[in-house]
Amino acid sequence: MDKQLAAAIERDNALEDAGMHGDDRQTCWSHQSWAADCADQPFHTNPSVHHYPRPA
Ligand SMILES: [Zn+2]
Repeated sequence: MDKQLAAAIERDNALEDAGMHGDDRQTCWSHQSWAADCADQPFHTNPSVHHYPRPA
C-alpha cells in the first residue's frame, strides 16, 4: 500500500467516525484500496452488503 492511499484511508476513517456517510469515502476499508478500484466487485455491487461495518 502506498503512503498516499494509507493516509487517505486514515482520513476517511476519521471523517466517518466524525459522522461522514460511508458512501462518501474515497477509499475502501474492506479492500484497503481506492474505492474506485474495487467498486465493481460483487462485494460492493450486492446491495445487501452495501453498508458494511468497519471494525472499531
Ligand atoms: Zn472495496
